[in-house]
Amino acid sequence: MADRDQPRVIVALDYPDAQSAMQLITRLAPDLCRLKIGKELFTRSGPRLVEDLVARGFDVFLDLKFHDIPNTVASACHAAAELGVWMLNVHALGGERMLLAAKEGVARAGQSPLLIAVTVLTSMDASDLAAVGLSGTPLDNVLRLAHLAQQSGLDGVVCSSQETATLRERLDAGFQLVTPGIRPAGSQADDQRRVMTPVDAVRSGSDYLVIGRPVTRADDPVRVLRTINAELSALT
Ligand code: C5P
Repeated sequence: MADRDQPRVIVALDYPDAQSAMQLITRLAPDLCRLKIGKELFTRSGPRLVEDLVARGFDVFLDLKFHDIPNTVASACHAAAELGVWMLNVHALGGERMLLAAKEGVARAGQSPLLIAVTVLTSMDASDLAAVGLSGTPLDNVLRLAHLAQQSGLDGVVCSSQETATLRERLDAGFQLVTPGIRPAGSQADDQRRVMTPVDAVRSGSDYLVIGRPVTRADDPVRVLRTINAELSALT
């Protein structure tokens, strides 16, 4: 694996504001993990927090899941890329023209963050999909949308650990799979229904692992990350 692939763990900063996030961030380091900022923290603390983390040397995944008309998404992706983020995402359901516009927006910023797609939200089951007019199983839809993302030139998709092996088999080797729902052996599942250990997720084809509470709620987050990183480097 290239250096760019390390570390594989992306810590989900699911905090209400920058001050609480900083209590964890000041204990972490860029060689231990990357960081994910989602809608709540971004809406409270905004781009200055992103720039601060980038200035501290962290790779930041800006998880805002853009989904709008192509022109608006292109501009939003351009703005995100200008913040210096390492990864950002959009909804594949926005369609091919929106995905191509997202790519163009990122390219225009002169930066090269990874642009990935969300396929089907894991909170949706077959009946939720049917209610919005999407037939087939969640996996059928995930596969169709992942192919669309790949054909549109995106770098990868967010997927559940249950989907990873199938996607790894069906998509190009370099297409990045980013997987939440990860629990180190022996830790609590919390509200996640189906979880996988870091080692099993990487074995089944995940490139990056999104991990929140097992790190953010740990007494010693650094020790948790070091243990995961050691288990994963033993694999490669
Ligand atoms: O604390 P935990 O490890 O469960 O956090 C997982 C993170 O990944 C959260 O930020 C959650 O929103 C995100 N996520 C997820 N499942 C998805 C997509 C994102 O758990 N399908």
